[in-house]
Amino acid sequence: MHALIVYAHPEPRSFNGAMKDRAVATLESMGWVVEVSDLHAMSFDPLPRRTDFADPENADFFKYQAEQAHAATLENGFAPDIRAELDKLLRAELLILQFPLWWFSVPAILKGWVDRVFAMGVIYGGDVGFYSRGRLRGRRAMLAFTTGGPPEMYGTTGLNGRVDVVLWPLQNGVLNFVGYDVLPHFHAPGPARADDATRAAMLDAWGHRLREIDRTPKLEFHPLDDFDAEAGWTLKPGIKGRTVGQTGTG
Ligand SMILES: Cc1cc2nc3c(=O)[nH]c(=O)nc-3n(C[C@H](O)[C@H](O)[C@H](O)COP(=O)(O)OP(=O)(O)OC[C@H]3O[C@@H](n4cnc5c(N)ncnc54)[C@H](O)[C@@H]3O)c2cc1C
Repeated sequence: MHALIVYAHPEPRSFNGAMKDRAVATLESMGWVVEVSDLHAMSFDPLPRRTDFADPENADFFKYQAEQAHAATLENGFAPDIRAELDKLLRAELLILQFPLWWFSVPAILKGWVDRVFAMGVIYGGDVGFYSRGRLRGRRAMLAFTTGGPPEMYGTTGLNGRVDVVLWPLQNGVLNFVGYDVLPHFHAPGPARADDATRAAMLDAWGHRLREIDRTPKLEFHPLDDFDAEAGWTLKPGIKGRTVGQTGTG
């Protein structure tokens, strides 16, 4: 079993770095083959560029999704850095995105990785499909992240709002969109203000979550068939809508 950890933190000795190291050690001890994309160490370029494509379809007007879909039809259509990440992604039955929450989202370098690597025509879109028919269906993915704020701040009455709402663009808009079974997130809150024992306990809890991964139920999202494409992709009559309220642990 292959796992890919996409790790986005500029400081190797950060708590995120410790979480990435714990995940590698835990998964390897369970027999997983683990690959890590350490985006800062790789100086991963998050910007979409014309040079992302070996043989652009329209060199005059740059339309990123159209160029991705065109490159997908070619033998070597993508720049080598995108191709290398795509190969890792397609090898992995488990994807973990490891990051500090920045502005209620992933850091820009990780967002750029998604923009460039989750390519139309390869990972989603056209004949490939999306949501429950997406290319990565049958595989698992999850978010593992830290915050500056404490857990209460991300609760129902918390100043920042519910964490599952904060994560909806990532859990639904990115991971579920391309077909993954999305596992509950792991949230390590406020490591910078925590004492050593609390930080050690958070790392232990993270290792425990990974050891239990095969017994962890996925989050429930509506399958594509619950929606009527002719009605603007709205729920079919009689299907009871779920709320966003899918929470993880951590
Ligand atoms: C641009 C930006 C936007 C932000 N937006 C948000 C936001 O929207 N919401 C929010 O809540 N926060 C936000 N933050 C804060 C950010 O999320 C936190 O600073 C971050 O999550 C903390 O994680 P870290 O890995 O950087 O911690 P670090 O500060 O690197 O680590 C915390 C402590 O853990 C220690 N440590 C490292 N390894 C170990 C180990 N093995 N065992 C025990 N301890 C260890 C480190 O030495 C350090 O003392 C933002 C920050 C920035 C820069």
